[in-house]
Amino acid sequence: MTVYSHSRLSAFESCPLQYRLRYIDKVKVEEEETIEAFMGLRVHKALEKLYRDLRLSKANTLDELVPFYNENWQKYYSENIKIIREGYSPENYRVTGEKCIREYYARYYPFNDGKTLGLEQMISIDIEGYKLQGYIDRLSSSSDGAYEIHDYKTSQHLPAQIHFEKDRQLALYHMGVQDMFEDADHVNLVWHYLVYDKEIRSNRTPDELSKLKSDIVALIEKIERAQEEHEFPAAESGLCGWCEYQSLCPKRMHLVRTGQMSLNRYLNAYAKKEGVEVIRGNDKKLRVKLEEKPHFPNKGEVGRGELEALIRNAGKWELVSELNIHALPKAICDWSPELIERIKRFQKMEESCRIYLSNLKEGE
Ligand code: SF4
Repeated sequence: MTVYSHSRLSAFESCPLQYRLRYIDKVKVEEEETIEAFMGLRVHKALEKLYRDLRLSKANTLDELVPFYNENWQKYYSENIKIIREGYSPENYRVTGEKCIREYYARYYPFNDGKTLGLEQMISIDIEGYKLQGYIDRLSSSSDGAYEIHDYKTSQHLPAQIHFEKDRQLALYHMGVQDMFEDADHVNLVWHYLVYDKEIRSNRTPDELSKLKSDIVALIEKIERAQEEHEFPAAESGLCGWCEYQSLCPKRMHLVRTGQMSLNRYLNAYAKKEGVEVIRGNDKKLRVKLEEKPHFPNKGEVGRGELEALIRNAGKWELVSELNIHALPKAICDWSPELIERIKRFQKMEESCRIYLSNLKEGE
């Protein structure tokens, strides 16, 4: 039976093709880790150590925690880690991660507000027979008896409060905590935006949870329908730059494969062979449309006289006088099949390539 997760549902919502490649075809791409993911993991591991040791009455000082973070950074960092944002070095990210830890430590020291119940706590949720699962960075019970679901974020983007009121991931975990603990009447959802040293809280009412359940059931039904119908279209967005399947995606593969290929060669050969549709520059994109169109002989070209004579003899000349070869394909549509057949002997199919220039949206 399929086990869903918040990220699995989100993958389908943002791009069905990415969902198919990752979760159905299980395509493994040798993908370099991004520096953002690497830094996030190192910070998560340091905070996990902090609370794991606290459970055994060992309080790390900052002078222990920061070297733990830096030693692991050195140990696991590799040249293959990808920096997508231009103009930043690994050191910029390392220092940012260290600052996250220092500020978190200063804000919550001596970490005595509630008890930690779980770290990287696996949570299972059953919604109308569909199974979902996730991991809570830290689950705690606060001094007033409420359960708290903590999520650490090292993102550079701080969303507005409305984002948290609608967040699905922690609301899902809320359901899982209520399944695990009978006394979980009050559950707080807590996000730690570490780069900004900011804590954001939100709660869900029973009505909101019930609406979320029906939304999730509807989404899973949609995914399973797409699977039955093999319908997983590519949906481009600002997230494509972070997608590991760009080399397999008809909308993006050229970025990976063309390298220094010239635009002409690209238009004439590559787009046709590879089925790509979009070329990106620094701030513009070209949409390429390949299609076959009818072409009749121009004045002076072989067959032109014969074609004109044919049309005249058919009594149709006045309809296309000053024979307009561009108007001809449309004009002949309601002529007799036999005449159309004879006219079409002068027709060759030619490939036309139209390009559409537009500004790139942020992140494309
Ligand atoms: S590159 Fe973009 S459009 Fe293509 S599969 Fe990935 S997310 Fe989807």
